This record gives sequence, C-alpha cells and structure tokens, in this order.
Amino acid sequence: MTPEPSQSPANPQSPSPGASEARFRKLIESNADGMLVVRSDGTIRYANPAATSLLNRSATELVGRFFGIPILAGETTEIDLPFRDGKVVVVEMRVVETEWEGEPALLASLRDISDRKILEEELRQKIAELAVADQRKDEFLAMLSHELRNPLAPILNAVHIMRLRGDDQVLRERMRDIVEQQVRCMARLVDDLLDVSRITRGKIQLRLEPVSATALIQRSIETVRTQLAAKSHELHVTLPDEPVRIWADPVRLEQVMNNLLNNAVKYTDKGGRIDVAAEVDGDDVTIRVKDDGIGIDREMQEAIFGLFTQVDHSLARSQGGLGIGLTLARNLVQMHHGSLVARSDGPGRGSEFVVRLPISKEAIKADVPPPPPPLPTPGASRRVLVVDDNLPSADSLSLIIKLWGHECRVAHAGPDALEEAAVFRPDVILLDIGLPGMDGYQVAQELRGRPGSAEVVLIAMTGYGREEDRRRTREAGFDQHLVKPLDLDDLERLLAHIGEPGGLGHPSIRS
Ligand code: ADP
Repeated sequence: MTPEPSQSPANPQSPSPGASEARFRKLIESNADGMLVVRSDGTIRYANPAATSLLNRSATELVGRFFGIPILAGETTEIDLPFRDGKVVVVEMRVVETEWEGEPALLASLRDISDRKILEEELRQKIAELAVADQRKDEFLAMLSHELRNPLAPILNAVHIMRLRGDDQVLRERMRDIVEQQVRCMARLVDDLLDVSRITRGKIQLRLEPVSATALIQRSIETVRTQLAAKSHELHVTLPDEPVRIWADPVRLEQVMNNLLNNAVKYTDKGGRIDVAAEVDGDDVTIRVKDDGIGIDREMQEAIFGLFTQVDHSLARSQGGLGIGLTLARNLVQMHHGSLVARSDGPGRGSEFVVRLPISKEAIKADVPPPPPPLPTPGASRRVLVVDDNLPSADSLSLIIKLWGHECRVAHAGPDALEEAAVFRPDVILLDIGLPGMDGYQVAQELRGRPGSAEVVLIAMTGYGREEDRRRTREAGFDQHLVKPLDLDDLERLLAHIGEPGGLGHPSIRS
C-alpha cells in the first residue's frame, strides 16, 4: 500500500524523478485503499479513484482543496465520515512521509472499516448478553437448589414419625399425605422445568377433549384448599349457572388454574380474600382469579410472564417458586387459542389474572370432593413454639414434638411468633431465621428485651452452619444453633433435658 523506498519519488538516489513519480502514481492509482497525497500546508495534491469513491467527491473536487483532518506522519487514526444521507463511514487512516513533485508531502491511505466496526459492536453486545445470561443462570441454579431442598425436611420428618408411630393408622395416613404432597411439589418443579424446555422447542402436544370449565375450576380449587386454610384466606367462587364447555386439554388447563390459585394464595398476606369467577362473555368464557394481596407494579404486569421473572427475590418476600409458572400458564392458554393477562392497581392493592378461552357447546356438572379429616392433638409436658414460614416443615416438626410428649404451637411469621409467645408462654422457641417481614434475629432480639420472654430457650433453625452464622445467632440472643434438616435425635435430647443440670435453659424452667 505504501511505496517501497526504491519506487518512491522521495528516494534521492532515483535516477529520473519524473519516471519514478509516474511509477509511484501508477502504483497508488490502482490501490484498493483510498490514497491521498497532501502537502505540508494541508492542500490535497492527488486522490486515487478509491479515495474519490470513498469520499464521494471527484478528483477535481478534491485536488487543490484543504484537507480538513489534521494528519501526522507515522500515525493511524479512525475517522467518522458523515454523509448527507445520514450514513457514517468509519475510515482508518495511516500516514507516511513522501515527496510529490519534488516537494515533501504526506501520503494518507484510507480504508473503509465500517463493516469491521459493526461486527466488533455486535460481538461486544453478544459478550455483554452472555455475561448477563451467565449471571442469570447462576441465580437460577441457586434458586433451583433451594427449591429442591425445601420439600426434603418435611419428608424426613414424616418418615421419622412413621417410624415412631407406624401403628397409628390416622397418623400414618397424614404422614403419607405430607410425603406425597412434598414429592408432588418436587415433581412439579421438575415437570415445570421440562415443560419450559418443551414449550420453547414447540414440543408440547395438547390432548384435546370436551371439558367443563366449571368442573375444571372446582377441581383446581380443591388442590389449593390446604394452602388456603393454612393462610386463613377467604375464598369466594362465582360460577355461571349454565354449563360451559370448552375444547381443551384438562391436565394442562388445570396446571394453569393451579398456578394462578397458588400464586393468589402465596402473594396474599394471611387472612386475605380470593375471588374466583367465571362468566360467559360472547363466544368466550373468562375466568378471573383475584386476590387482595401484595399487588404488582404497573411496569411488571407484563414482565412477570417472562421466564424466571420474579418481582421480589428477597428472602422476606420469597414464597418459593422459580418464576416459571406464569410463562407456562400463558403459553398453555395461548395454545388453547385463549389469552392470559394480569391487572393490578399497584403494590399492596391486589392482583387479578384473567384467562379467556373460546367456548365449545355443552356443559358438564361437577362433584366437589369432601374436605380432608382433622388432625389428632396429643397432650404435652414442655411448651414448645415452632416458628417457620415453610408450612409443611412447621406442621410436621410440631407433630413430632407432640409425639415426644410436649405441647406445641406453630407460628409462620415474626409478629405472629411474638404474639404467640406472649399468650402461650413457651419454654422453648424453635425459630427459623429466614422469615418474611421480620427475620429470626429480629424476633430473638425483641423476645430477649421482653420481661416475660427473657428466659425462654431460643433455638435457631437455619440452613447455614458456618462459624460466623453461629456467632451471629449467639449475638442475637439464641441459646442453640441447629442446621437444617434438623437431627431429630439431637432435638429430642435437647428438649428432654431443658432446665436440667447440663441442659439448655434456666433452672427455674416451668414443667
Ligand atoms: P413464581 O411464583 O414461582 O415466582 P410465577 O411465574 O408463577 O413464578 O410468577 C412470577 C412472579 O409474578 C412471582 O414471582 C410474583 O412476583 C408475581 N406474581 C404472580 N402472581 C402474583 C399475585 N397473585 N400477586 C402478586 N404477584 C404475583
């Protein structure tokens, strides 16, 4: 691209400057890069055809004009050349010294690098996207292992109870239900994950049949009865009098309804109100699941249907789940030629999810199965309060404690625990650390500051067992730090020896 010294007119040994310059001209004339010869005062002396097309000017327009861009020999610069049509050409300019018509001059070679620049920018964006995807993958894996670990504690507890009281038929059935429920929960997670991958690859096949919309809604409601009762929610159901029949895959639509109902239960504080209403609207049936819970920010009302999107990841608000449910639900409804949208007046003002599905002709009447039988409550000697927001964990642990002969109550949140402690006056509180709203450390500190609860034995239950975690619970006023899943033999021994010499707690412990 730049002239060889022997070919250059700058070479003082050259026998004939005119012939040499002609050779030089020829050489740069045919160069694919734009070539400009610029005098030291900045005027252009020569432009080759590639330069005229790159600069969109004829040679006559260029030669004799001032070259507006400062140039220095030995330098490489990038120049953005804006054109009238809005296009910007990025040019790489290299400059060397030369001689032109017997005078010192500069030779600037111009190369269009716009395409390379576009590729570089695309590559930069791709790398940034990959970094974000990598971070989301890490977050997702952390969340997934947490979600898979959650059901394990109640399963272990139930197995332990069955070992202790395998002869008690009612208890055995109750424990079997817990195991079944938790295994289903794990299986659902795995299924959801597989469904997501199938849906994104268009691999889900619907098994369509005539389905009664009302029966479907009623079946879904039955599957959330336990969760509704555990959070003392009020449920109101309004179904159309006339039969409503849709052409659908009942398993898939139940999955949609279960997700919406589960979310309504999860994202509504205790004692909330949930309304499920179905009505015929022209050729469609609309099914509304409405709650008076935490609500959704306007900007998030569409985003929550995106994969792995959760409004609040924090420990306090985390209710379990992977942020997959709504993505699946919307996709499944759309596969039924319907739609699913979310509405909310904002945080704290409840949410409404509306499913719209096309109606097919006839209707089916549904039977509602009877509610599950109530739990037995054995007597006790020590008063134990179990505080855990994971309901099956709290439920099964409290049963074990009762079987050991103690009296046990359960609270699912910090403020409830404080209230229960004041009324129940427990000897021991088994306190989960990651609680919604007010965490276990805050509850412990508050209890230690209260005259009535200053002496209570406080046992922390947590997933973290590092020395710094143990120091933190000690500083918050806990007497003992147990790592989940709890070693039940250890716990039984701890509770049995509370208040005794060598055991936990104050000697004046009530019995
Ligand atoms: P998950 O519940 O497992 O996080 P979903 O896809 O079902 O996943 O829901 C995504 C997010 O949408 C939830 O994390 C929550 O932030 C929000 N959301 C869903 N349903 C409700 C509801 N009824 N009220 C408030 N927020 C909700």
